[in-house]
Amino acid sequence: MHVIVVGAGIIGLSTAWHLRRLGAGVTIIDPAPGQGATHAAAGMLAPAAEVVWGQSPLYPLMRASAQMYPSFAAEVASAAGADFGLTDSGTLVCAGDRADLQALRQLRTAQTAAGFTTELITGSRARELEPALSPSVAGAVRIPDDQSIDPRRVTTALLSVVSATTVRRQVTRLIRRGGITVGVGFSDGDELTADQVIITAGAEADSITGMPALPLRKVWGDVLRLRAPAALTPLLHGTVRGLVNGRPVYIVARDDGELVLGASSREDGREGTDAGAVHRLLQDGQRLVPGILDCEITDITTRARPGSPDDLPIVGRIDDGCLVSTGYFRHGILLAPLGGRLGAELATGVSPDWLPAGGLDSVSPGRFSAEPHSAEPSADGSSAVSSVLHPTTLHRSTS
Ligand SMILES: Cc1cc2nc3c(=O)[nH]c(=O)nc-3n(C[C@H](O)[C@H](O)[C@H](O)COP(=O)(O)OP(=O)(O)OC[C@H]3O[C@@H](n4cnc5c(N)ncnc54)[C@H](O)[C@@H]3O)c2cc1C
Repeated sequence: MHVIVVGAGIIGLSTAWHLRRLGAGVTIIDPAPGQGATHAAAGMLAPAAEVVWGQSPLYPLMRASAQMYPSFAAEVASAAGADFGLTDSGTLVCAGDRADLQALRQLRTAQTAAGFTTELITGSRARELEPALSPSVAGAVRIPDDQSIDPRRVTTALLSVVSATTVRRQVTRLIRRGGITVGVGFSDGDELTADQVIITAGAEADSITGMPALPLRKVWGDVLRLRAPAALTPLLHGTVRGLVNGRPVYIVARDDGELVLGASSREDGREGTDAGAVHRLLQDGQRLVPGILDCEITDITTRARPGSPDDLPIVGRIDDGCLVSTGYFRHGILLAPLGGRLGAELATGVSPDWLPAGGLDSVSPGRFSAEPHSAEPSADGSSAVSSVLHPTTLHRSTS
């Protein structure tokens, strides 16, 4: 079987990796591999810290994918000869002041209700664990099991394994015969055919002609990378997240000394970096860890998270020759092992019986249709999935 994967972010690359393990031939197409949302991501693998009220179908998926990470990272590292920078030094979710502590207690109640084990600790105990924390930190929730990786190292490692089959071009349309996708086309009229096509183009997944109008929303995030002076290194030992005047902020510490300070969350359609957002991140970050103002800024990146109306991914068939795997929103790095394996198995006809119960339905593209999802093509052969949205509550994001 030959499969075309459109989009080489972490989801497309993980899908390609799993397809190869299943014995499929793979062609990956992307004009700028690894430069989408994955390039911005902080790399927190933090199912408990990501708990938000009302998202219970997401928790089993996040938990399952977090458990898949150590073996996924080890297998890719052995094939690529380069690792992901996987660390398991945990997360401290800190309260900037007493009012934030109240919000943190509510968050912990949600985490406990979702089945995660966390510990509420005092500000002094938090400073014992992370001496760089500000004296004003009023308390913290400790999540010892959280992991993190460097998403840029992940794309480099995965690309080195699959690079021989990577085409640096932009797909403009799906090619359909008899209502079934048989390949993809480019702006100059060139075409490539395959047995299956998987669209993993992140926030641009529905801009390809012939794709259904998926209910994707672009949630822009600005994020900074910093380096502490030698005298202050390591500034932090794990991930510090927190609430400052109710605003979420995080600082992720990498094993090579890099710090990632993020992230804004905007749906204003502005692709460029927002000066106000950068100012607020530095302001809120230094309220938790004053030493970040002594660091050098090495990078500022702005990218769009591929959001869905219910914050769950969108994975499933568009027609008999085409699948979509997108909508990973602020969890795409965490969900990459699960999403990659799921997309690869659906494309090759393997039953994903390992998925948590209800997992397939919770991510189905058909869940946004007023009518039950049908794989029947419309008269023009262009779209099998309608995009009538259910009213949903949108949540504030931190990652
Ligand atoms: C600031 C920020 C911080 C984040 N932090 C975290 C975090 O800590 N943990 C976490 O789990 N998630 C995090 N996320 C979310 C995560 O980055 C995304 O969910 C994830 O990267 C989505 O991966 P993707 O492969 O679907 O999309 P992308 O990485 O955007 O990749 C899509 C690819 O498709 C290509 N493409 C687009 N259109 C076409 C086309 N027509 N033809 C060919 N190729 C095309 C693009 O060039 C791109 O390379 C963060 C996101 C942001 C913005």
